[in-house]
Amino acid sequence: PLGTVVGMPAADTHCPYCALQCAMTLRAGMTGVEVEGREFPTNRGGLCQKGWTAADLLRHPDRLTQPLVRDGGALRPATWPEALDRVVDGIRAIQDRHGRDAVAVFGGGGLTNQKAYALGRFARVALRTRTIDYNGRFCMSSAAAAGNRAFGLDRGLPFPVADIAAADAVLLVGANPAETMPPFVRHLDGAGLIVVDPRRTATARMASLHLQPTPGTDLALGNGLLHIAITEGLVDKAYVDARTTGFDAVRAAVSDWWPARVERLTGVPVADLHATVERLAGARRAVVLTARGAEQHAKGTDTVTAFVNLALALGLPGRPGSGYGCLTGQGNGQGGREHGQKADQLPGYRRIDDPAARAHVAAVWGVDPADIPGPGPSAYELLSSDEVRALLVFGSNPAVSAPRAARVERWLRGRDLLVVADFVLSETAALADVVLPTAQWAEEDGTLTNLEGRVIRRRRLAAPPPGVRTDLEVLADLSARLGVPTSAEPRVVFDELRRASAGGAADYAGITYDRIDAEGGVFWPCPDAAHPGTPRMFLDRFATPDGRARFVPVTHRPAAEEPDADFPLYLTTGRVLTQYQSGAQTRRVAALPGEPFVELHPDLAARLGVADGGPVTVATRRGSATAPARLSDAIRADTVFMPFHYAGAARANTLTNPALDPVSRMPEFKVCAARVTAA
Ligand code: SF4
Repeated sequence: PLGTVVGMPAADTHCPYCALQCAMTLRAGMTGVEVEGREFPTNRGGLCQKGWTAADLLRHPDRLTQPLVRDGGALRPATWPEALDRVVDGIRAIQDRHGRDAVAVFGGGGLTNQKAYALGRFARVALRTRTIDYNGRFCMSSAAAAGNRAFGLDRGLPFPVADIAAADAVLLVGANPAETMPPFVRHLDGAGLIVVDPRRTATARMASLHLQPTPGTDLALGNGLLHIAITEGLVDKAYVDARTTGFDAVRAAVSDWWPARVERLTGVPVADLHATVERLAGARRAVVLTARGAEQHAKGTDTVTAFVNLALALGLPGRPGSGYGCLTGQGNGQGGREHGQKADQLPGYRRIDDPAARAHVAAVWGVDPADIPGPGPSAYELLSSDEVRALLVFGSNPAVSAPRAARVERWLRGRDLLVVADFVLSETAALADVVLPTAQWAEEDGTLTNLEGRVIRRRRLAAPPPGVRTDLEVLADLSARLGVPTSAEPRVVFDELRRASAGGAADYAGITYDRIDAEGGVFWPCPDAAHPGTPRMFLDRFATPDGRARFVPVTHRPAAEEPDADFPLYLTTGRVLTQYQSGAQTRRVAALPGEPFVELHPDLAARLGVADGGPVTVATRRGSATAPARLSDAIRADTVFMPFHYAGAARANTLTNPALDPVSRMPEFKVCAARVTAA
């Protein structure tokens, strides 16, 4: 039974949800598993409601404990051999008929490092398909692309979270950690905090200055702030000369973004623009952070770049106690993007089109470099491709979390074979031909890499219930049936991952379980056992060929879809305190309250004849969704907000626009044109 203690009464581990990876201790008792916050530099002992209640899913009645296969239109219980044979027979038939790339794999940013690594290897070695990507593409890929472009390397926070607490000024662009990762706010001082968000969120209410721009205009805002820094003589010229290239082109690009023009476009008052720059430039230590609000746009990479340019002009990146960083969202959003489940990457954060990278990884895998397929299509392109006939999903629920979700749902229904590994019947699993029941976080070992680039351990408290296997076991079972035997043992997989990462940007070669235990986590890169790890990056040089950070000129352009006569409002989407991602887990926790809603300004509601709590329908060119109205003057009167955690009629992603960023392939979740009516 669940909660049975295996060898020890407690396990020191980390939360299964977001990238803060709060430290917790689990204790198995007679009535269930107790969760307690544990002191750690990121959470300082704190947990949010999601973390406190995470163990409620271990014994949940919705828990899957045996495989399901679809027969005659309905799912029925099956044995593991039957389910695995169904999967492998289907894969073989589809690949024989349509080619190897017709079988696709879709991973998740919550998978452990080992799983992310094993999934990439499974796709490229056992399936020999180039068609693999993951839901992190929908999360922080624009920040990753901008970081690579500017610094030659992307690590969400290139410094420890604790550095943020010591900063005198923090500019937070498109982040609401007071709801999404509440213990993080222990590192924020409201007096020095400036928040950029179209909504007056819980985080914005903490701040001494809140900039509330029109959705889709953050890039212009960033350029405008840099324009002021230049015209007011606040650029750190010595730093720019010594540590960067390309400033002149950026200076020219922002020269016509004078404050009054920025105010007219963004709605942010000129005085607030000036105050923001003066505070950042006047601080002894200052940090610029971006998150999904800046990143989830069809120009997300350029938007993040605008704020990286600002940070560089002020001399922040690579200076102790200061810098630029991205607040990664998913539990292993950092590690999940380093080990090869991305369409364009191999383990160690290597580019899949780099011959040297292919040769190194091929040697670890024991294959010919020419046999490693890829690159493949990005997440949304994968989830809308007619060439894909079979899809295997691990750790994701794209029927709720993908943009234009009704179309994605139709696409999922139309595959010849849909296989989902999950521990509950998520909306995606409910569409599957085969469902494979997997273990939860408290039932497995592994490593994750938190938002600071610190590699930490997930430790098992209890064995999974009978009939349930870990994702690594499922991948090993499938690999073996496909003639490629692999280990399902987390330590063995981690050691292989370390070898595969050696010499890459995200080098884990010197990181062992023993070191993680002894040191409370190890920051990558850590190339050998004697290396101390790298809490602060870029102190001496950036990871570019000449060691200098690159300014990149970027230009504002409208959102892919702007309001018009038919759809006169902006729609933006996001998260709420009590729910996580697609909600497949947190919606099932009774102790986590939360219902879908549409947030709109009272003036707009009055105009539309909408009452607080009354049902409203939000329509876009892709479909409509209905939820109760929540009136709030915290949102602009031209904008409505919906949380994206919900399914059915209230599925916000039915509405969102899959217009893709040309560099990161990030969809435009954060802005589209909408119409609202009383339902
Ligand atoms: Fe911490 Fe995030 Fe878990 Fe909340 S969801 S307890 S902030 S790791």
